[in-house]
Amino acid sequence: MVVVVDTVSATPLRPRHPEKVNRPDALSPPKPDWIRVRAPNSRGFADTRKIVRENGLVTVCEEAGCPNIGECWDKKHATFMIMGDTCTRACAFCNVKTGMPGALDANEPEHVAEATSKLGLAHIVITSVDRDDLADGGAEHFAQTIRAIRARCPATTIEILTPDFLRKDGALEVVVAAKPDVFNHNLETVPSRYLNVRPGARYFHSIRLLQRVKEIDPAIFTKSGIMVGLGEERHEVLQVMDDLRSAGVDFLTIGQYLQPTRKHHAVMRYVPPDEFAGFEKIAYTKGFLMVSASPLTRSSHHAGDDFARLKAARAALSV
Ligand code: SF4
Repeated sequence: MVVVVDTVSATPLRPRHPEKVNRPDALSPPKPDWIRVRAPNSRGFADTRKIVRENGLVTVCEEAGCPNIGECWDKKHATFMIMGDTCTRACAFCNVKTGMPGALDANEPEHVAEATSKLGLAHIVITSVDRDDLADGGAEHFAQTIRAIRARCPATTIEILTPDFLRKDGALEVVVAAKPDVFNHNLETVPSRYLNVRPGARYFHSIRLLQRVKEIDPAIFTKSGIMVGLGEERHEVLQVMDDLRSAGVDFLTIGQYLQPTRKHHAVMRYVPPDEFAGFEKIAYTKGFLMVSASPLTRSSHHAGDDFARLKAARAALSV
């Protein structure tokens, strides 16, 4: 039996995921050699970490244990996670700490804007924990953060990766009104795996959320992603593509699920790179403007370069 202890936050003896402590260990197969990442030890990595710490910010790169952190932080690409480091959901795949979060930091939008400026980012990705405890799910805080970045870094394009704001009427509209350039909301997996993987969420609510963004403001790019290796069938992945296209989603990401600890969902399969290439090809034929599918694809990986390609793809359609 393994007890999952928090090694990221300042209170290391609190279990990071109390709800998972008594679960039996879930064993995954050994990692194949195509899952290789660079060790995080470059000068750029150290500089990025310094700016993150100085501004008291939380990043999903660290909290989720992202395998790409060495590469991204070396290029000063960090994805900020706003509204704290503690999530009110308890998804089976996610390494973000769970529990009751603290009060919102009213200065956080300014701090995020300041860090964006110091890092010199042309494109910034902002995500958050789920804040089911807040009346608006944190929508206004998202909007304030977007506005603070716009005011301080007007040339920086903004991508947000939001929770589902389930049962929070009007929350989505508040975020869309702040006009992010890209609105990302991940489906995470196929509908048949929701009960085990993402039990607090509803698949069709997430699809509808993405569709609503386009209805309110068609100029905003929409984006969504899933992980594979969680027990899904190939035909289910293809169905997810169709559902996302029906909702007008522009950009699809597909990456390999990696198990954060033995208390999390097991990796059911490591999908080989050629299968990812096949998914990418099919997704383009279904009409996505942009597709990124590879073992180490993550929502925010290469987000700046991908945004430029996304804009170019839209422009090419309109000539
Ligand atoms: S892929 Fe995203 S979450 Fe992972 S290190 Fe890069 S910016 Fe951070």
